[in-house]
Amino acid sequence: MSVLVVGSVNADVTVRAARIPAPGETVLGEEARVSPGGKGANQAVAAALAGSSVTLCGAVGRDTFRAPALSGLTRAGVNLAHLHELAAPTGLALITVAASGENAITVASGANARVTPAYLPTDLSGFTHLLLQNELPSEVNREAARHAHAAGLTVLYNAAPARDPDPDLLAHTHHLIVNEHELAAFASGGGEALETQARALLTRGPRAVTVTLGARGSLTVTADAVDRLPAFPVTPVDTTGAGDTFCGVLTAWLAQGHPLPTALHAAGVAAALACTRPGAQDAMPDRAEIAAALA
Ligand code: ATP
Repeated sequence: MSVLVVGSVNADVTVRAARIPAPGETVLGEEARVSPGGKGANQAVAAALAGSSVTLCGAVGRDTFRAPALSGLTRAGVNLAHLHELAAPTGLALITVAASGENAITVASGANARVTPAYLPTDLSGFTHLLLQNELPSEVNREAARHAHAAGLTVLYNAAPARDPDPDLLAHTHHLIVNEHELAAFASGGGEALETQARALLTRGPRAVTVTLGARGSLTVTADAVDRLPAFPVTPVDTTGAGDTFCGVLTAWLAQGHPLPTALHAAGVAAALACTRPGAQDAMPDRAEIAAALA
């Protein structure tokens, strides 16, 4: 069935350089590469490539970065009827990648920061699942989750990048997805095992909590089960967008009616496949590639 993603759309401008510049320093790099990004757009593309009907609600500007920001969404067939064009710059991520593989990222939120609850679709009758991240203003997420929850949709929330937890948003979330660092933003005390920390969140709204663990796979807790999935073995080339692929494909498979363990398995396999190629949206597998790897 149909997935609504409410989230950010960016153009990523990436420069490879010998190292990340120190404050006040200029470092000469290679040529800049412009590619589509933003967690909302990335996850919408992953879900659409995995075979779901996907609509993205968000905003871009009317500037030169609009076209590169939208290129992957258009190619993947994401419905952009709820994408707003504003008199503001398109969101831009300025990424420096050092020879060591480390990166430094500055995001100019631009149009993403201007999204308000008024931009959300009022009629949710065509959707079964809502997918959110942390790159739009909190009040947009809160209102989207509240409305979707009341309308009977399943709400998935990838709390990335980490920011102060919003209890109201959590209360309207069915499935929370975080990495270890983002989980720490929700933890009350230090030192507990991941499973204990994740389980504690089940009392605050979600009925499932998934912690993604990079090359160590993922851990999912529900009221009556713990699902520890090892990573699908690959030789990683670039792990950018692994988390976004995981979230998009998980949502797509759940929306297609698969049970949670099957959807988690497909998400892990798809995220691993995305690590075998450079880039974010460009590296995401389609439905046939996921099916072949699962066979
Ligand atoms: P990013 O911000 O880089 O997209 P993230 O921190 O949100 O990543 P990760 O936990 O690093 O998310 O990765 C998400 C999922 O991708 C993991 O749960 C795993 O299934 C898969 N994955 C990541 N790295 C690897 C790897 N090296 N080999 C296989 N699978 C991987």
